[in-house]
Amino acid sequence: MDYLKLAGLLFPDVKTTPEQLEERYPQRDLPEGAKVTRIAPSPTGFFHIGGLFPATVCERLAHQSGGVFYLRIEDTDSKREVKGAAAFITTILDYYGLHFDEGVTADGDKGAYGPYTQSQRVDIYHVYAKKLVEEGRAYPVFSTDEELDELKALDKKAEIKSVNWEQDAEARREAMLKRRQFTMEQVEKELAAGHKFALFAIADGNPENKIKVTDLVKGLLEIPENDEDVVLLKSDGIPTYHFAHAVDDHLMRTTHVIRGEEWLPSLSKHLMLFRYLGFKPPKYMHIAQLMRLDENGNKKKFSKRDMGANLEDYRKMGYCVDAVNEYVMTLLNSNYEEWHTQNPDKDRLDFPFSIKKMSVSGCLFDTEKLNDVSKNVISKMTAAQVYDGVCDFAKTEDTEFYETLRSDRAYAESILAIGRGGAKPRKDFATWADVKPYMSFFYDKYFTRDDEMPQDKDKADIKAALKKFIDTCDENDDQSCWFEKLKDIAEQIGYARETKLYKKEPEKYKGHVGDVASFVRIAITGRQNSPDLYEVIKILGRQRTSDRIKESIALL
Ligand code: GLU
Repeated sequence: MDYLKLAGLLFPDVKTTPEQLEERYPQRDLPEGAKVTRIAPSPTGFFHIGGLFPATVCERLAHQSGGVFYLRIEDTDSKREVKGAAAFITTILDYYGLHFDEGVTADGDKGAYGPYTQSQRVDIYHVYAKKLVEEGRAYPVFSTDEELDELKALDKKAEIKSVNWEQDAEARREAMLKRRQFTMEQVEKELAAGHKFALFAIADGNPENKIKVTDLVKGLLEIPENDEDVVLLKSDGIPTYHFAHAVDDHLMRTTHVIRGEEWLPSLSKHLMLFRYLGFKPPKYMHIAQLMRLDENGNKKKFSKRDMGANLEDYRKMGYCVDAVNEYVMTLLNSNYEEWHTQNPDKDRLDFPFSIKKMSVSGCLFDTEKLNDVSKNVISKMTAAQVYDGVCDFAKTEDTEFYETLRSDRAYAESILAIGRGGAKPRKDFATWADVKPYMSFFYDKYFTRDDEMPQDKDKADIKAALKKFIDTCDENDDQSCWFEKLKDIAEQIGYARETKLYKKEPEKYKGHVGDVASFVRIAITGRQNSPDLYEVIKILGRQRTSDRIKESIALL
């Protein structure tokens, strides 16, 4: 077969050569050891939380080494494509602080290695497709896409190893060998009739032979050589993932391909294509799929429908970016938490991220743990930072609360400052959504009485204590003076001044000062639990404090 002639017939318009492309996309001028990484999502309008893990690894490895982190949009599967999805991806990743140096941005492409959207690179793929035909490595198949789908189904059946897998594999092999048989006349006739073709690469491997390849996470792997012809172009001329991966990652000079483990079974095909194309393969890291715990504590994959499967869900649920990133780091590098404890004031980005410390078996996403990390992160913020975080969240998720917060920043900040800044800060918030229920009683319009006065205490005593409290309460008292007054009230109604006195001789008292504080707390906040009562009263002021207590007495 005259392969040059065949290539000319199949790709009459391709004039560019691979050499010209090598010149157009030269080796990058980067410092020794700099890594070039990318994330390459398909624009489906959904960004899986699991995707944040490889994305973080890519970003860290690139930026830690003085390299380049770029975004490529893989839109070769038009059936899955959603309009505006690329913009969605850049926005959400930017929100999580994963800033790209290059690639698709909201304002078009940035960088010298584009276009960064695969559908705009079809001419480039065809240059290499033509080269492979010229070298007798690739051949056309004039079938409709439906027929190709049938072939794929046959391949799948053989892979699944059904009862008849040997026959299935044989049938597949025969079909493959038949596809490879054709004459130049047949091609000319098909083309003249305007028929479209898909392009296949001829597999040259023997699965009995193993290729040794090092995955930077999984270690040395031995994978069978590929003996399945690989679809390079579909009949619309659009490449498959396999072909586009080899061409793009070579021309964009990616040094490290970090991607989901689901691509591992295709690695053998990819290495074959790199070899055919004369490209040096990148270093690979295959990251295990993110798992979660279900209601019964069993490990499960995140299904698309699960709340929390979409990265966007975390913003909506009110998780702050720092908390999610911090949590991702703890899962990705086993020594991160220890480092963080030793370097509490350092930024997450100062952590020396290491591939060696990554878990081979993958990450388990545990919301409880995320909440713990998040509570820690928020507890270290200033009141002003918390205020800004809540406002940012409420702006889209609870506009009414947003307006309330905005109407008096100083007031909201004074509430958020309670218990903040000391050695043991309060850890009330796992998400920004937790803030409203926490502080709502400070606002008359949100105030509700959720908890009742203790049933085992005498109502007359409660009333007496509350009345005395109104009489003596002075918002200018310092904390110790305030507490002394509370103890006096306790004594006056036959309660112990100190909890320990009560514990020693419980029969001697009707209760203790803690109970009195509890009456006041429930009267003022409507709850059994609240932040520091003294601080609460200072913020509410004498008038509102006594109004609420009076109302509570009337309800008794
Ligand atoms: N478009 C592929 C995906 O979304 C990218 C895989 C890769 O990073 O190479 O799975």
